[in-house]
Amino acid sequence: MIVAERKTIPELIDILAKHKNILVLGCGTCVTVCLAGGEREVSIIASALRIASQAKGLGWKVSELTIERQCDNAFIEQAIDAIEKSDAVLSLGCGAGVQAIAERFIKKPVYAGLNTKFLGILEERGIWTEKCAACGACVLHEYGGICPVTRCAKHMLNGPCGGSREDRCEVRPDRACAWQLIYNRLKDIGQLERLDQIAEPKQWGSSLSGGPRVIIREDHRI
Ligand code: SF4
Ligand code: SF4
Repeated sequence: MIVAERKTIPELIDILAKHKNILVLGCGTCVTVCLAGGEREVSIIASALRIASQAKGLGWKVSELTIERQCDNAFIEQAIDAIEKSDAVLSLGCGAGVQAIAERFIKKPVYAGLNTKFLGILEERGIWTEKCAACGACVLHEYGGICPVTRCAKHMLNGPCGGSREDRCEVRPDRACAWQLIYNRLKDIGQLERLDQIAEPKQWGSSLSGGPRVIIREDHRI
């Protein structure tokens, strides 16, 4: 899922300073699961903004709404009325959701209330970890399902850098060395011979380094 975290209330106050009628718009999918932008967080942020408005005499009217997916026009329909009645939208969707709303309502200021961080999973209660950098050309099958692009701090594709200590990454000692994980996994699934292969330099043209990406499915365009 997409993992995000909330901007701070002082940041939001700065962002919204020149508006009066603000809609805090949540998203019911990824950012709900990572506790950043669902119905509960919308309620918390909206309450905090109302308190700030009273304390600072900002005169804000803050309303709330959460739709199932901000990145999908079919669900944005449900927010049309609330968005049109507001001066500005504070989106608690991911970066894609914020931009989907802004593209649809071209004269309405739409602001990101979250910092979108990465594609990841809930590792344990309250801890989300990155698992995929959406490089566009997945090589997980070569590495036992452990992503060296994302989980190795140096993106090493042909073995460890040599800096790990006690299976910890030298760059992030709080994280396991990705190459230790790759070795363990390949051993467990009986594919250690994969380590004998030299990986060709990865082509990064399909990653963000190649510019904004688009997927076109001609079979769905008929
Ligand atoms: S190889 Fe690329 S697509 Fe596959 S998990 Fe890693 S970053 Fe994501
Ligand atoms: S210690 Fe392991 S995970 Fe960290 S940078 Fe080196 S090879 Fe990558």
